Parts: sequence; structure tokens; C-alpha cells
Amino acid sequence: MTQTNENPKLFIVLLIVSLGSFLLLAVVLSFVSQFGTFVLIGTLGIVTFGGILLLGLLLALKQHQLVPFFEKPISLMILMLYPVALKIGTLGGKEKDEIRASFISIHNRLAKIRKITADPDKILVLLPHCLQWSDCPHKVTTAVTNCKECGRCTLTDLLALQRQYGFHISVATGGTLARRKIQELRPKIVIAVACERDLASGIQDVQQIHVLGVTSERPFGPCFNTSVDLEELEQTVLHVIR
Ligand code: SF4
Repeated sequence: MTQTNENPKLFIVLLIVSLGSFLLLAVVLSFVSQFGTFVLIGTLGIVTFGGILLLGLLLALKQHQLVPFFEKPISLMILMLYPVALKIGTLGGKEKDEIRASFISIHNRLAKIRKITADPDKILVLLPHCLQWSDCPHKVTTAVTNCKECGRCTLTDLLALQRQYGFHISVATGGTLARRKIQELRPKIVIAVACERDLASGIQDVQQIHVLGVTSERPFGPCFNTSVDLEELEQTVLHVIR
């Protein structure tokens, strides 16, 4: 079954290496460029601040508490360093999806530490189209209520969960449709189900809304008759529902 294990430590290590790489680059520049000293001093300041934020992140993950002042800067640091960490990690032989899963894991943990909750009608569970059984003739992307709940795909169980808790469900074929559904419904919290790649880019895209990611399961390979761990999804809903 294709699903990457979430290992938050990997992304933390990559954040440290990324900050270290900036410093190393600045040291090299200080020898070869006439403005090298200024670059080095500036980079030292940035890396020191990054180091403080990193410590704040580690403390938050350990103690399940986050000093409000650090919330935004830590999230910003993670988002800004994500592409660098991804590059460094892949150069170091790690799978992209493994790094993405680690990034998503840290993002989710921080989101849960912030303890943001919402009424059910302000929560949107956003599903990928590949979750629908490939031969199903019903157009669930137009309206999820078109699903006949035949039990061939996870939508049957997801609709049962929706009835139990009262959140919204939308099925999107891609990023553009997902953004449109978010604009239409204006949820306070989005629980997005997708592969690591789509989740990581979605989290980067939708920064003004509280997003939690649940990685899809791909027993038949990518983008085909995928599924989701219902227990994990339900636990995520219970974390944010008021
Ligand atoms: S549960 Fe059945 S009707 Fe609903 S989307 Fe899946 S295959 Fe189609």
C-alpha cells in the first residue's frame, strides 16, 4: 500500500541543515565577494533568529504548547524553508514524499497545538476525486449528494461520518476546484485528504485558512481508487469540532 510514514524528526533535521547551509554559503561569500562581510553579518542574524524559532518549534512539539508570539514566525519559517529542505533532503537520498509527509506531520501537530475549533458547518472535508471508484457514473464533484452510497468506495463511510458530525464534504478534481469550493463555503477549518505532494502544496497555497492534512492511502498506486484511514480522519475532525 502506498502511504508514507510520517516522521517529524526528518523535517526538523532538514530545517537545521538548511539553516546551516545558509551560514556556510555566507561564510564562503565572505571570502569571495567584496560585500561578503555584510552578507555574513546579515545571514548570521537571520540564522540566529531561525535557530531561536527552531528551538521554539522543538519546545512546542515536546510540550504541546506554543507561545502565541512564535505562532506566525514559526509557521512562516517552516513554509519558507520547505523548498530548501526538500532539495537538501532529496540530494541526501530521501524520497520526496517522505520529506513531504514529515513536513505535513509538523504542520498538523502545530495546527492541533493551536487548538483552533469550529462549528461543524464551518469545517470542510476536502477530498480528492481519485477517492471515488473509477467506474462510478455519478458526478460527485458537482455535488457529493450525487453519491448513491453503494459501498464500492470510501465515500459511503465518509458520508456516514458527515451525517454523524455535520461538517461539509467536497470532492475536488484539482487545486483550482478545491480553491473554488473553499471560496464558496468560506470554512474556518479545512481538513484536506490528498497525497503528500498535493497536501504539501495545498498547505503552502492556503495560508489564510486553518488547514489540516490527512494523507490518502493508495493501494492501487497513485491517483486511482484511493482511500483514506477513516479513524485518522474522524480523530482529526474530533480535534477541531466544537
Ligand atoms: S460510494 Fe458508490 S455511488 Fe458513491 S461515489 Fe463511491 S462508487 Fe460512486
